[in-house]
Amino acid sequence: MMELISKNKCNGCAACAMVCPQKCIDMVPDKMGFRYPEIDAERCIKCGLCQSRCPAYSKTVKKTTFAPKAYAVMGKDEKIREKSSSGGVFSLIAGYVISQGGVVFGAAFDEACHSVKHIAVDSPYDLKKLRGSKYVQSEIGTSYATAKSCLEQGRKVLFTGTPCQISGLKAFLNKEYDNLYLQDIVCHGVPSPAVWDGYLIYIEKRFGEKVKYVSFRDKTKGWEEYLLRIEMDNGAVYSNDRVNDLYMRGFLHNCFLRSSCFECAHKGTERDADMTLADFWGVKEICPQMQDGKGTSLVIISSLKGQLLLEQIDAEIRKQKVVLSDVVKYNPAIVKSADLNSNRNKFEEDFGKKPTITVLKKYCSMSKIKRLKRKIKSLLKHK
Ligand SMILES: Cc1cc2nc3c(=O)[nH]c(=O)nc-3n(C[C@H](O)[C@H](O)[C@H](O)COP(=O)(O)OP(=O)(O)OC[C@H]3O[C@@H](n4cnc5c(N)ncnc54)[C@H](O)[C@@H]3O)c2cc1C
Repeated sequence: MMELISKNKCNGCAACAMVCPQKCIDMVPDKMGFRYPEIDAERCIKCGLCQSRCPAYSKTVKKTTFAPKAYAVMGKDEKIREKSSSGGVFSLIAGYVISQGGVVFGAAFDEACHSVKHIAVDSPYDLKKLRGSKYVQSEIGTSYATAKSCLEQGRKVLFTGTPCQISGLKAFLNKEYDNLYLQDIVCHGVPSPAVWDGYLIYIEKRFGEKVKYVSFRDKTKGWEEYLLRIEMDNGAVYSNDRVNDLYMRGFLHNCFLRSSCFECAHKGTERDADMTLADFWGVKEICPQMQDGKGTSLVIISSLKGQLLLEQIDAEIRKQKVVLSDVVKYNPAIVKSADLNSNRNKFEEDFGKKPTITVLKKYCSMSKIKRLKRKIKSLLKHK
C-alpha cells in the first residue's frame, strides 16, 4: 500500500483522494473533525499518484518573474464592506467573475451553521454564502473536480480558499488554465470543525434555540474590535469579543488548530495564488488615509492575471499601493506559521471525553491575573 504524508504535515487538501484513479482514498475525520486520507489497501494499485501530486511532499515552484505588489483596498459599497471581514474585495472580484458567466468557489456554512464546506456559486444572490471569514476548516468535498469540469467547459473559474487548498487544486489539475483565477487568504491557521460543532451545540442548549446566522467578524464595534455574533431562530443574539469568547480565544491562541498549521508549507510572499487577501493590520501606521474603522483589505498581487483582475474592479474600490515588506511587519501570518500552544495536545486528549465547553473553559479561559490587569487598564483608560 502507498504511504501517505505524516499526519502532522497533511493539511487535508484532498488532492490525493481526487487524483486516485481507483477512488480508493477516503478523507476521514479524526476526533477533532480534521479530515485525513485513508487508503483502502485492497483496491490500491500502487500507482503512486497520491504521493507524487501531494503538495505537502513537493511544493510547486512557481516559474515567474512577476514581483509581488501590495495594495490597501476599500470597497466603495458600504453594505458589502460591512458584511465582509476586511475591505470587501472578495465580493467585488467574485461579482466581476460571475458577471462574465463565471463560477466562484469558496467556503460556506451549511444551513445550520455547524459546518463549513466549499461550494460553487454562479449568481450574485448566492455570493453572500461565501462572504465573510469562517474560522473553521472548510471541507473541500468534490469542489476540485467540479472546478475542473467548469474550466473544461470554457467558463471563467475563481477558486478561493486557504493557501493549502489552492496548492491542492493546482496539484489536482496539474495543468495551467487561462480561464482559472486563484485567490487565497493570509491564514492564521484552520480551527477544528468538531470543536466548532460542539461549541454551537452548547450555545443552542444555552438559548434553547437553533442557530440561524453566524458572523465571526461582526463590525458593530468596528473592524478592529470585531465580535463573534450568533443569531438564534427566535431572534435572540449571542455576541462577544475575541478576547472574551472562548472559541475565539482558543482559535487565536492556537489551542485547536490543525497540526499542519504549526509548520505551514505555504507561508511567504510568493504564492501559488494570483491574488492574496488579508486584513490590512497596520493600516493606521502605513497609510492612515485608507483607515476609517470599517475595514481595509490588504491585496497582494502575484501574477499579471491577478493584476488584470484587480483592474477590473477599479471603479468599485479605493486603493493605494504600499511596500510589501512594510506590511509584513504588522501581519506576520503572511510569512510565519502559528506558534504551537503548549496545551494543544492536552486539549485534543481531553476533547471528546468531556463536554466541549468544559474543555474550552479548561484550556482557553483568561487567567485571573490577566483578567485583573485588563480590568485595571480599562478603568484607567476611562478615568
Ligand atoms: C481561517 C482563516 C484565517 C485567517 N487568518 C488571517 C490572518 O491571520 N491575517 C489576515 O490578515 N487575514 C486572515 N484571514 C483573512 C481575512 O479574515 C479575510 O478573509 C480577508 O481579509 C478577505 O476579506 P474580504 O473582506 O475581502 O472578503 P470576505 O468576504 O471577508 O472573505 C471571503 C473569502 O474568504 C474565504 N473563506 C472564508 N472562510 C474560509 C475558510 N474557512 N476556509 C477557506 N476560505 C475561507 C471565502 O472562500 C472567500 O474567498 C483569515 C481567514 C480565514 C478564513
